[in-house]
Amino acid sequence: MSDSKENISDPIKKNPPKPAKLVGVKGMNDLLPADSFIWEKLERSLISLAKTYGYQNIRTPILENTGVFLRGIGEVTDIVEKEMYSFEDRLNGEQLTLRPEGTASVVRACVEHNLLYDGPRRLYYIGPMFRHERPQRGRYRQFHQFGIEALGFSGPEIDAEIILMSQRLWDDLGVSGLRLEINSLGNEVERLAHRTALVEYFETNQALLDEDSLRRLKLNPLRILDTKNPSMQDMVEKAPRLIDFLGEESLSHFDQLQEILKANNVVFKINPRLVRGLDYYNLTVFEWITDQLGAQGTVAGGGRYDPLIERMGGKPAPACGWAMGIERIVELMKEQDIVEDRSTQCDVYVLHSGGKTVVPAMVSAEVLRSAGVDVMVHASPDGKVSSFKSQMKKADASGALFALIIGENELETNSFLLKDLRKSGDQFSYQMEDLLDKVIDAIVSQSD
Ligand code: ATP
Ligand code: MG
Repeated sequence: MSDSKENISDPIKKNPPKPAKLVGVKGMNDLLPADSFIWEKLERSLISLAKTYGYQNIRTPILENTGVFLRGIGEVTDIVEKEMYSFEDRLNGEQLTLRPEGTASVVRACVEHNLLYDGPRRLYYIGPMFRHERPQRGRYRQFHQFGIEALGFSGPEIDAEIILMSQRLWDDLGVSGLRLEINSLGNEVERLAHRTALVEYFETNQALLDEDSLRRLKLNPLRILDTKNPSMQDMVEKAPRLIDFLGEESLSHFDQLQEILKANNVVFKINPRLVRGLDYYNLTVFEWITDQLGAQGTVAGGGRYDPLIERMGGKPAPACGWAMGIERIVELMKEQDIVEDRSTQCDVYVLHSGGKTVVPAMVSAEVLRSAGVDVMVHASPDGKVSSFKSQMKKADASGALFALIIGENELETNSFLLKDLRKSGDQFSYQMEDLLDKVIDAIVSQSD
């Protein structure tokens, strides 16, 4: 008694402070039901695409030892220099990194498990990647990629295959307005000759280089070509082109790739400035770009990375792959209005009047589900029986084709009501023993 009096007189106990709201990490998004159905649809298309070309799924951990990316991506890259979430595991002192991309991890796994022992592999992955970038439209700190890796193949037909795959994906999804740019980075000797010419050129134009580029001049001059600095564009345009340094073998690889693409009606443009942000590429590189997403217009990119497997400690083997940003393609699908209406939650919504009607409602739902029908049973938020009117509203909002109603009358006569919610609005009464036949008939006749 005295306790409760104390409670009332103590303002803090009477009005305890409301717990502060918790929020997610900046740049890392929740995917909510309003959008998740688009992602599920896209994921189904991606899995089916991979299957169409004989690619198998691989899932690597989100955390890797930091060395995997230092070696796999290269130290003088945007990702390694400034975008990685790296930290020390305080429990054992290990240096770990949240994966910023998929290729290094996939190659690490292939080497570790000797996956190429009996020949080449065609693999794909879907999952989250992490980069500490400034969050903006199309650029997040946790984002998702679908990626393809074809390991152990050297011929240009595989470069072509993975590009054809991406073209097929856009066609399957119905997205338009993506343009393909390709380039060849040649082999190491050719790149070295080009690099020497490039350094010479940049040194004579040193006054025009920004701070980033001056630093890169010594470490990775090729990356200067990637600059987005408008005041450097003119100078960069006139720099020596790698393509002019390619030997016969590299040119023939590039020519064969183009021939296969043309024969399959894939439209592309050669962009001699395309170098890609990662260190491990050689020969073919490509990007799919749109003008409809503002500054973040690169939807997918990839290329050949023949030196990587050896660099990651494996037996030398050629490889190529590509990765697509899922957020950007979802954004494009929305932009182009090719996303169907929100998918329905169920085929049948079951209404009941509480009490003893709950049991037949729950049993009917399970019988229908066993036959492949998607069913939701009404559940009230407060434990009280909702009025049929309010249940009917929920049924309608669920997108169900039919409402199945079990009230007191139905309970007594061992029957149920089936109401067409989408077309006629008609409602019929049936005996419970005919449940499956009647519901399935109704669904089938409505889809005709
Ligand atoms: P960008 O030039 O836009 O930074 P990138 O060259 O760093 O792209 P890749 O490493 O080639 O990108 O990754 C492949 C794809 O992943 C990109 O084409 C893009 O669609 C997507 N992507 C990359 N970084 C992000 C990010 N921070 N947020 C969302 N999507 C991203
Ligand atoms: Mg980037």
